[in-house]
Amino acid sequence: MKALLLVIAMIVLARDASAQDAQCVRERAAMVETIRTYARSAAGVLGRQGLSERVLEAMAQTLRHLFIPERSCSVAYADQPIPIGLGQTISQPYVVALMTQLAEVAPDHVVLEVGTGSGYQAAILARLAQKVCTIEIIPQLAETAAKTLRDLAYDNASVRLGDGYNGWPECGPFDAIVVTAALGEPPPPLIEQLKVGGRLVMPVGPAYTTQQLTVVEKIAPGKTTTRAVALVRFVPFTRSQN
Ligand code: SAH
Repeated sequence: MKALLLVIAMIVLARDASAQDAQCVRERAAMVETIRTYARSAAGVLGRQGLSERVLEAMAQTLRHLFIPERSCSVAYADQPIPIGLGQTISQPYVVALMTQLAEVAPDHVVLEVGTGSGYQAAILARLAQKVCTIEIIPQLAETAAKTLRDLAYDNASVRLGDGYNGWPECGPFDAIVVTAALGEPPPPLIEQLKVGGRLVMPVGPAYTTQQLTVVEKIAPGKTTTRAVALVRFVPFTRSQN
C-alpha cells in the first residue's frame, strides 16, 4: 500500500513538473516574441538587420529561470530586470539581447564579461562564442553563478572573483567585452585587452541614474570609435579597495 502511494505521489509530482516545464517553454517563447517586437521598433539602434536569429535562438534556449533565486518562470520570462540579491539585478531580457547583438559575437570568439551577477548573460554569450571569461566582484554571486554555469554544463565559461576594472589578460585578447555595470568611462585596461576589430559594450554614465549604452570599437592599435546607442539603467560598477 505504502509503495503504491509512493508511486502515485511520484506520478503526481512528475506531472506537475512537466506541466511547469510546458508553462516555462511557453513563457520563454513569449519572451522571445516580446524581444523581437522591441527590436523591430529599435531599427535605428540595431540597423536594418535587427536582432540576429542566432541571438534570438540563444535567448530561446537559455533557461533564465534557473539563474534567479526563486526559479519561477513567470518571474524569469517577464521582460523586466530581476533582483538576484546583494543589491544586484539581472537586466531585462531585451537589454541582454541588445548588448549581445551589439557585441557581434561569432562562434570562434573569446569574450570577456565584467559583472557576472547570476551568470545569465555569460550563459547567453557562452552559447554564441568559443570561450567566455566573466568576472564578479561579490564573492557570493561569483560562487553561485559558477555553480549554476557548471550544473548547466556551460563548460566554455569561466568565472573569476575580483574587480573587473583591470580585465583578465590571461584569458584575452578579446573579440568582444560586455560590461554589465555602469561607470563614467570605459576602463582603459579593457580597451587594451580588446583585439583590433573588437567591440566593448557597456553602460557609460553616473551611478543611480540613466546611462548611455555605449559601443566602443577598436579600429586600430590605440584607436577607437565610440557610439551611444540607447538609454539604460544599470547597477554601479564598484571598485575593490586593494
Ligand atoms: N550580467 C549579470 C547582471 C549583472 S548586475 C547577469 O546576467 O546576471 C552587475 C554585476 O556587476 C553585479 O553582480 C555587481 O556585483 C558586478 N560588479 C560591479 N562592479 C564590478 C567590478 N568592478 N568587477 C566585477 N563585477 C562588478
